[in-house]
Amino acid sequence: MATTATKFATSTSIAQGAIVVGSGLAGLSAASQLISHGVPVHLLDRAQKPGGNSIKASSGINGAPTRFQTVPDTTFYDDTVRSAGSVFSIAREQRQKLVSTLTEQSASAIYWLHDEKGVDLSKVAQLGGHSVPRTHRPEKSTVGASIVMTLLKQLKESPLFQLETAARVTRVLKSGEKVTGVEYTQDGETKELHGPLVFATGGFAGDANGLLAKYRPDLAGYPSTSDPREGTQDLLTAVGAQLLDMEQVQVHPTGFVDPKEPQSLAKILAAEVLRGEGGVLLMEGKRFVNEMETRAHITDAITKHEPLKGDIKQWDVLIVLDEGTFKAAETHLGFYMWKGLMRKTTVAELGEGVLPALQEYADAAAGHTEDRFGRKAFGHWALKKVEPETLVYVGNVTPVVHFTMGGVVINERSEVLDAEGKAIPGLWAAGEVTGGVHGENRLGGSSLLECVVFGRIAGDQASAAFKSQ
Ligand SMILES: Cc1cc2nc3c(=O)[nH]c(=O)nc-3n(C[C@H](O)[C@H](O)[C@H](O)COP(=O)(O)OP(=O)(O)OC[C@H]3O[C@@H](n4cnc5c(N)ncnc54)[C@H](O)[C@@H]3O)c2cc1C
Repeated sequence: MATTATKFATSTSIAQGAIVVGSGLAGLSAASQLISHGVPVHLLDRAQKPGGNSIKASSGINGAPTRFQTVPDTTFYDDTVRSAGSVFSIAREQRQKLVSTLTEQSASAIYWLHDEKGVDLSKVAQLGGHSVPRTHRPEKSTVGASIVMTLLKQLKESPLFQLETAARVTRVLKSGEKVTGVEYTQDGETKELHGPLVFATGGFAGDANGLLAKYRPDLAGYPSTSDPREGTQDLLTAVGAQLLDMEQVQVHPTGFVDPKEPQSLAKILAAEVLRGEGGVLLMEGKRFVNEMETRAHITDAITKHEPLKGDIKQWDVLIVLDEGTFKAAETHLGFYMWKGLMRKTTVAELGEGVLPALQEYADAAAGHTEDRFGRKAFGHWALKKVEPETLVYVGNVTPVVHFTMGGVVINERSEVLDAEGKAIPGLWAAGEVTGGVHGENRLGGSSLLECVVFGRIAGDQASAAFKSQ
């Protein structure tokens, strides 16, 4: 619900609260933390509805070690660094601090959401690139929507909270060295707000002809799972912010090709959990990759092949689930089946070659053979004997632009840093608008986590700044 600002003056420089821009998980985490310190929050979002891309998240949020995990977990930091790849050596010390903060505060992020906020995160799965299961999600609902709706509901109950939607920030205001607020447009009017500023405006995966085309022209024409909207890093570089890793863009290997609109640029994600719980990927009827590998690895294995003909750049890949996998990922599957993105069919219908490929996989899953692609974890795949009439669940998938690793540089206090590495006073950032935590490749589940960890830190810091004015 959009509200009109009453507690905040638009033409005075006297701060009456903190400003948070962006109502995704990073912004909501920062706002929750500010309110917990008794600081009024004015939350601006350009969209009509709050929630950003966060509301779509479906695989889960990482945390380790937590009481929900059944396997001891000491490798989260190492897995993150391994996944970040060779760019980790650039600004290594700074990245190490960010990754340490992320991983060390991950369990408390899960407990904050689960125990304090009441979001069930008791189900744990292992996603690609992780050594052990550590990605938490609710038993009965999707993770992004559950977290966003819960935080938003609790924020709206506070008299200290004001939300303005359809409010697009166009400029960050600065006085001398210090950031003092924002300029934004709403209903054709230009307005100003003043106060400590937390920027949580998300990434630029949906900015196909803007920042994406500028930093990764090779990805022009790729469909995306993110909302189509312009990136905001330029608003922050205009006040001196430093950028890092802008060319590091994550292409998710599996976005659904909707049979009703195969040429649409906007795709729905085929969640990681489908592969994690046992799903198999096939091209031309054959397996071609370890489905538990990192996203970058799987994407490379797909894009080595010729793309399909058509206006957009996509490939012909099939994802196949047995009954056991289907049941384990049922919260997602109901939606995908309802949307017509997956269908139930027989193995015979999938064409020649599929039966032996699935049988070989089933044998490896049952422990009779080693998987020739090196897959070790098979989720809940239960099918042992594959027959032509065996029922399976299938969908067509293709790589999609999914996440932008690059963004403004922050330190472990979520302060935005300038070109010399100095904190810009009055300005904090969290979530996908920032760069440096994930390097070349974000681990599935670590984006929601960075939103909570650095969003909460930003809220604490902005609160302290507000109180010390
Ligand atoms: C389909 C999908 C599934 C995903 N699944 C997972 C998952 O399971 N686990 C995981 O960890 N990550 C997942 N991710 C990634 C993760 O959801 C996002 O990276 C993360 O939620 C980003 O949160 P954020 O708060 O930084 O930005 P967002 O949630 O995108 O919010 C940013 C907000 O800022 C607003 N905004 C932007 N510009 C302006 C402006 N100029 N003025 C005012 N407002 C502005 C936007 O309207 C938006 O509401 C998924 C992403 C997608 C697209």
